[in-house]
Amino acid sequence: MTARLLDGKAIGARLRAGLAERIATLSFRPGLRVVRVGDDPASVVYVRSKDRAAKEAGYDSETILLPETVAESELLAVVRRLNADPAVDGILVQLPLPKHIDPQKVLEAVDPAKDVDGFHPVNAGRLAAGLPGLVPCTPKGVMHLLAEAGVTLSGARAVVLGRSAIVGRPMAALLLAADATVTMLHSRSRDIAEECRRAEVLVAAVGRAGMVKGDWVAPGAVVVDVGINRLPDGKLTGDVEFEAARERAGWITPVPGGVGPMTIACLLENTLEAALARRGKDELQPNGGVAEVQATPEQSYGHGPGLA
Ligand code: NAP
Repeated sequence: MTARLLDGKAIGARLRAGLAERIATLSFRPGLRVVRVGDDPASVVYVRSKDRAAKEAGYDSETILLPETVAESELLAVVRRLNADPAVDGILVQLPLPKHIDPQKVLEAVDPAKDVDGFHPVNAGRLAAGLPGLVPCTPKGVMHLLAEAGVTLSGARAVVLGRSAIVGRPMAALLLAADATVTMLHSRSRDIAEECRRAEVLVAAVGRAGMVKGDWVAPGAVVVDVGINRLPDGKLTGDVEFEAARERAGWITPVPGGVGPMTIACLLENTLEAALARRGKDELQPNGGVAEVQATPEQSYGHGPGLA
């Protein structure tokens, strides 16, 4: 079997087009402010892409650039100013921050109602408790991909490899909220290959190129590769051995062009949700608002012989 590709570039573009249509009908433009400190090369690229995507979709987007040497107190003052600005609906402080700044202190300074990255402990706690709130963009993007594939998550065995606060943990919480049976794996887990082989839905978020071998994938499984790793030749690759895994999986995301584009689309989605919620026009949803799509028989997954 050769897996079907979950094309995040196309799905993300559709999501952004839908948001642009919605924004065109509003009497205001949702305001997004991205704060970048210093010139970390990856951050420069990410922040530029976020700003471009936001502007294209009709958002009022601005990037605030601060020097590498900015004092923590100055950065906190910028965040407080954005918290108080009624034109601002979403605030994102791009990570990583320089070593002299405590990222947790900065993330906790963001108003939870404007926390479009979903990293504030209030939003993380609400997600863990199954309550509505702003949900981290990358795992939310994964849920959109799973919905597009028509995956029935209720009762499915889902394995999340990685337990970071920004990907693994919220990913597991979203899958649990969708009634999957979730196993979380991390650097101290035993029998990782065996655990992965039991997965009907496998999400890899470790940051180790090709760690997930092809024979760790159950026939027909849905494989979502969150990893972004740069090889010595400069090419990007995921955490999954793509070519071997696609021979066994039912669905698989490529890297690049899988989860990455969904992250930006979900940042825009969160900013619109925050803008509507702040104006009392809409309610935040416990699952981040991702519609559940039921599988049709031919889209169904996870019934291959390896999953018995
Ligand atoms: P992270 O904070 O470094 O977390 C990595 C996780 O993987 C940790 O929980 C760690 O376990 C676990 N891990 C590391 N080595 C392992 C091993 N040998 N066996 C089992 N588990 C292991 O990374 P992150 O921020 O979650 O990011 C993960 C990857 O996703 C990176 O490649 C990153 O670039 C990518 N990413 C992509 C997007 C996107 O938009 N596509 C967004 C965010 C991140 P411990 O907790 O035990 O240390």
